Amino acid sequence: MPIRLLSPEVSSQIAAGEVIERPASVVKELMENALDAGGKSISITIEEVGRRLIEVADDGSGIASDELTLSVSRHATSKLSKADDLFHIATLGFRGEALASIGSVSRLTITSKVVDSKAGARIRVEGGSEGRVEAIGASVGTVVRVEDLFYNVPARLKFLKADVTERRAIDNLVTRYALAYPNTRIKLTEGKTPTLQTSGDGDRRAILAALYGVEIAKQLLEITAQEDGLELSGYVSPTALTRSNRKDITIFVNGRWVQDTPLTSAFIQAYHTMLMVGRYPLGAVFIDITPEDVDVNVHPAKAEVRFKNQERVFGFVQRAVRRGLLAYAPVPPVAAALWGARSESTGQAGVDWTIAHDGNLNVEGSKTQADNETSNFPPSSSVEPSLLNRVPLLRLIGQIGTAYLVAEGPDGLYLIDQHAAHERVLFEKLMAQHDMHKIPSQSLLTPAVVTLSPASTNLLVSQLPVLSHFGFDVEEFGPNTFQVRAMPGLFAGSDPSAALRALVEDFEEDEAPLQNEVEKKIAARVCKRMAVKAGQTLSPEEQRALLTDLENCDSPRTCPHGRPTMIHLSVEMLERQFGRRGAR
Ligand code: ADP
Ligand code: MG
Repeated sequence: MPIRLLSPEVSSQIAAGEVIERPASVVKELMENALDAGGKSISITIEEVGRRLIEVADDGSGIASDELTLSVSRHATSKLSKADDLFHIATLGFRGEALASIGSVSRLTITSKVVDSKAGARIRVEGGSEGRVEAIGASVGTVVRVEDLFYNVPARLKFLKADVTERRAIDNLVTRYALAYPNTRIKLTEGKTPTLQTSGDGDRRAILAALYGVEIAKQLLEITAQEDGLELSGYVSPTALTRSNRKDITIFVNGRWVQDTPLTSAFIQAYHTMLMVGRYPLGAVFIDITPEDVDVNVHPAKAEVRFKNQERVFGFVQRAVRRGLLAYAPVPPVAAALWGARSESTGQAGVDWTIAHDGNLNVEGSKTQADNETSNFPPSSSVEPSLLNRVPLLRLIGQIGTAYLVAEGPDGLYLIDQHAAHERVLFEKLMAQHDMHKIPSQSLLTPAVVTLSPASTNLLVSQLPVLSHFGFDVEEFGPNTFQVRAMPGLFAGSDPSAALRALVEDFEEDEAPLQNEVEKKIAARVCKRMAVKAGQTLSPEEQRALLTDLENCDSPRTCPHGRPTMIHLSVEMLERQFGRRGAR
């Protein structure tokens, strides 16, 4: 076939394909336009899952009648004039492509009126060809009607997913934008029923309930954070509330919904060691960043952004979420009178035994926020985390089955898994030393020689510099052979070759995590291997030391791999079980 220029119809359909993929893409572009127009209220009407009709009406600035034709032309925008503007964009749109694209794959009607014009005006575009602009009565704002989407691109229609899927995409999109713009009144009507209606009074909790359901919305923790040129607010799940995938994590950057972003990983990493393997948190986070520091022009549907300093934004998100989590971790209050002098160190004087008893077996670390009966909605996140997340002071009773410690707290009985607890203790000590760049290293009298598989050898070699941060002195000693000459003082007396093997086990499965994560993983792995095992008898002194160390941990309720370290049998539960209470 000879080379030839494509007809305008074909090339505009190709261009449209990048932006307009499904009904939800139309909804997105039109909502973004309405939001850019600064209206107070946006109403979206959908018929037949958007194939028949998508109408978006706003009370924003409107389009002047002499600009209507231009508004539906490709590369026509009021939001950008020179290339340099691309680097400080404050609007959602900027390419001037959406209306042209939508017009080329549907029957499009735009009716609009600006404040200082007497009448409104209307333009129709059908499959890319524009009609004339006619005057018509209208109120200030814009109504965009998109009918018979993809009527002239049947192939696209065939690619649409099942109705439920397409509808979910629309619902998800509108709800998320509603959450991001709580000061705009947003109404979504599908068929005859309004599916979503927000008040525009700025209250995000109510909108969260629409997105996640009332029960979950109630449990979400509110977080805020601020740093030079960076601001964040949002809602995140407590550790007890998890999902099997990351789809319920919503991230907005400068009012823009970004998907599949590494920021999602930053969010998830904030829960590191707090969730069971394979479980994910949920939540919505809104980040505001100086427009110069973010490039929004990297994705056809504007669903991704790039940062000038990506590591900084990641760290910021991760810290903000983590801090919020620690601040809210449920804590049973301590009865000062009964639990003696040390309760002063928790800063909670004379609190009574007023603990949320639900009569259930409480697996610590999987308590829900609702169990923490202090209030329906969590307190502000300004509370000092370290004070809130402690386990209560425990009185040691003894060891059972050479695997568990039994202890009494102000609120009942605690069964502690000695291995998981020790893992947590070692991990926090090691990470604390690591963060302060002083891990005491202890030389071995006789260096240990360890032989590994070739794959493990490669891994270990790549991690050698990290290991030295942790106080390991490991050298290659021959083909696939290493010599351990020193190890962290924390593990003094433990088997050095077991420590080294722990480092390379399963490492293959890891996706390239941030450096920070590699180090945490390494630490968690070694601590697991070095921790006391079930079946090991502990002296009373060792048992007591373990309890005290656990009380001093920041996240005492789970091991670094997310399993619970303790099970709590509340006083009330014991009473119930013995028929002393609630037998009616
Ligand atoms: P972009 O949003 O990238 O500028 P669009 O094709 O979406 O491109 O819109 C083209 C132009 O039409 C916008 O720049 C804006 O001036 C105008 N416009 C579109 N929708 C609206 C609206 N709802 N209210 C006011 N102006 C609008
Ligand atoms: Mg636009």
